[in-house]
Amino acid sequence: MKFLVTGGAGYIGSHMVKFLLSKNHEITVFDNLSSGKFINNKINFIKVDLVNLNKLDQLMSKKKFDAVFHFAALSIVNESEKKPRKYYLNNVQGTKNLINSMIKYNINNLIFSSSASVYGAPKTKKILERHKLKPISEYGRNKKEIEKILVRIGKKKNFKSISFRYFNAAGADETAKIGENHKPETHLIPKILNSIKRKKKKVYIYGNSYKTIDGTCIRDYVHVNDIVRAHYYGLKKFRQKKCILNYNIGSGKGYSVLEIIKGIEKVTKVKLKIVYKKKRKGDPPILIADCKKILKDLKWKPKYKNINKILSTAWRWHKKSFI
Ligand code: UDP
Repeated sequence: MKFLVTGGAGYIGSHMVKFLLSKNHEITVFDNLSSGKFINNKINFIKVDLVNLNKLDQLMSKKKFDAVFHFAALSIVNESEKKPRKYYLNNVQGTKNLINSMIKYNINNLIFSSSASVYGAPKTKKILERHKLKPISEYGRNKKEIEKILVRIGKKKNFKSISFRYFNAAGADETAKIGENHKPETHLIPKILNSIKRKKKKVYIYGNSYKTIDGTCIRDYVHVNDIVRAHYYGLKKFRQKKCILNYNIGSGKGYSVLEIIKGIEKVTKVKLKIVYKKKRKGDPPILIADCKKILKDLKWKPKYKNINKILSTAWRWHKKSFI
């Protein structure tokens, strides 16, 4: 089949590309290379920004894609609070352009990278998809707005979509050829692994007075290749007459920041020096997925169940890479 992957040079997008190639699909990537750099000569790579509607239309008119995987986005929660306009333009306007262009050229199947940040600071221990969407960051509001647009369009037109709400993507491909690298790096695991690689032992924990087991935030970490596999399973839903769906993708287990740091110490065999800093704006205390819906509907569950295994795939890539 012919697939378009936006953001295919980025962290999750590059793993998606690798997976789709392994199944012999024809892949086109649109990416503005703002943070990614994965170039694979087996794909048709086009440098384009989704904000540029004219160019997007021109490109979209050339190939009839069976589905679009839309990963391209700015994704640093904290930065989104400081630069809301930049985030809105990139994430919301860029996606609106993509959808409009798809509709114009009769491309009707979209898999959208949403996020657990749409829930805000949830009331329940494990979050179900029907939990109220009350994002507490600009990034989360961007994702919520796009999901709403997809529901609206799906009801009016023959436009099918699946929004996957990722919890915390982590780890790297087993080949250690692709992995997680943002600039600047703000995400807990790659940030610490980058420091270790540079022989720095100091790590920062943002907040230790949350109402959690050890006062630090709890997150649900899910391996990037498990996320990618869920997307592939999602494709079968496009056979339905109507398809406006959303699913959590998580492991259903939570780990505190301190537990992750302990895991990293174990995997890298490096003793770290913890420094506590004040809470980061927009950080909910606990985010853990309830994954019953995706298990039932798509028969998906994570293959990576051990957090140290996930961390070790990330470390293998970090050790090898030139970042
Ligand atoms: N965090 C931290 N120190 C860091 C980076 C992150 O304590 O150097 C915390 C952050 O406050 C959050 C958790 O680690 O509670 C996960 O943050 P990350 O940015 O990886 O993902 P997010 O959950 O924000 O998408």
